[in-house]
Amino acid sequence: MADTLTPAQRRKCMAAIRGKNTTPERVVRSVLHRLGCRFALHRADLPGKSDIVMPARNAVVFVHGCYWHTHACTRGRSTPATNAAFWRAKRERTRTRDRRTLAALRRAGWRVLVVWECQTRDARALRAELRRFLVGR
Ligand SMILES: [Zn+2]
Repeated sequence: MADTLTPAQRRKCMAAIRGKNTTPERVVRSVLHRLGCRFALHRADLPGKSDIVMPARNAVVFVHGCYWHTHACTRGRSTPATNAAFWRAKRERTRTRDRRTLAALRRAGWRVLVVWECQTRDARALRAELRRFLVGR
């Protein structure tokens, strides 16, 4: 699927995806909060500046943008019409970094969950997924 964003829209989109406190992350935080979780954000002392850290539960949650982190969904598999090679290389580096980050956290004894941006659109499924993760199943 080729995307139809203009270069200006794409820049804005990529900036939003890269930025902290993106909407999908806020959605996840709000669900966790309602599930009674206490967490810290973007802890610089953990690999990948982990998005949401729950030390009491030994758990870390990442919220990944589907495009930027190359999810297997439609959005994640879309390729930009311009500068395709540039974006492909950039996304590949992100994927490699993600793999290393998750491996490093797991080695250090953290339980890790990746929530994809597209999963944050179904509040009920998201809540169920986070609850399963929190109880360790
Ligand atoms: Zn996705």
